[in-house]
Amino acid sequence: MKSKTRVLVTGAGGFIGHNLIKRLKLEGYWVRGADIKEPEFEPTSADDFELLDLRHWANCLQATRGTDHVYNLAADMGGIGYITASLADIARNNILINAHMLEAARINSVRRYLFSSSACVYAGYKQHEAAVTPLREEDAYPADPEAGYGWEKLFTEQLCRYYFHDFRMETRIVPFHNVYGPLGTYEGGKEKAPAAISRKVALTPDGNDIEVWGDGQQTRSFMYIDDCVEGLLRLMASQYREPLNLGTDELISVDGLVDLVCEIAGKKLVKYHDLTKPQGVRGRNSDNSRLREVLGWEPQIRLRDGLKVTYMWIERELRRSGRTAPVLAYAAD
Ligand code: NAD
Repeated sequence: MKSKTRVLVTGAGGFIGHNLIKRLKLEGYWVRGADIKEPEFEPTSADDFELLDLRHWANCLQATRGTDHVYNLAADMGGIGYITASLADIARNNILINAHMLEAARINSVRRYLFSSSACVYAGYKQHEAAVTPLREEDAYPADPEAGYGWEKLFTEQLCRYYFHDFRMETRIVPFHNVYGPLGTYEGGKEKAPAAISRKVALTPDGNDIEVWGDGQQTRSFMYIDDCVEGLLRLMASQYREPLNLGTDELISVDGLVDLVCEIAGKKLVKYHDLTKPQGVRGRNSDNSRLREVLGWEPQIRLRDGLKVTYMWIERELRRSGRTAPVLAYAAD
């Protein structure tokens, strides 16, 4: 049955899309990937991979042709520095991708369509405290999302509902909380906190200073990529059409994250806080009550375990490219 289901993953050259395709192939699906770029660190395992700019209508029609399920993960996005620096460009690019993708999926009779939203849809005034109350799906309203990127995600959530209302198109909506893991961007400005901190720790000699954005007291939760992919498959298979948090509720401060990575790396570094850098909302955590209720499941992988794998991968990548000194512990690899 699965081998007969044809799946399109957009954003297939990106972090979540690439990992999702690997899993879909293991599950036996036929998969097409679409993106403006190829995956950065290893070849795709998709049956068909098309380089397409999905801001253009004709390309969305081409990407969705002959497919049954669509995971629409393509987005202009990045870490907090990137999404706060560029509001108009990000909003415009993502509006074009999402409006065209939904309509192209409808015209091509796609049976199920999943939209990757973000915890950036949640109201800013509910995230002023580091000891934040975990965010429930209702906390997106009254609306006060992240400028640019968050407003676009929030409106596209509505657009998905409208496509069900008008056309009975089966849509799934996933506000992701931070996702991390191997094969994700770790430098260049689009990386997120776990990857950026892992890179900095790997590149900083023991005993030296490490730069931390903001005062380090801001809090977040982080989900390992394997949990993210598992959640996506489960949600797609469910009958649930309303937004459903996908994240962990293991809250940690950014300073805590730095300490954890240092511990994994076996280094003692001195933090200095750059208060001129953006730090986003003060605190953000996921309330997983509805996730448990709807899917009977929630992410399982502890931050410490996922970070260990992620740090090792980034450290190895940096070492391969001659950016860090060879480490004795790996000499026998
Ligand atoms: P990513 O940046 O690694 O992947 C996004 C991909 O979209 C990139 O490969 C990019 O080239 C592609 N893309 C951008 N513009 C495009 C265009 N015009 N046409 C075709 N492809 C285009 O990001 P990711 O972490 O894999 O995120 C996937 C989705 O999940 C995105 O929608 C993102 O907003 C959402 N999300 C991710 C996180 C996270 O922590 N990673 C958190 C919240 C939401």
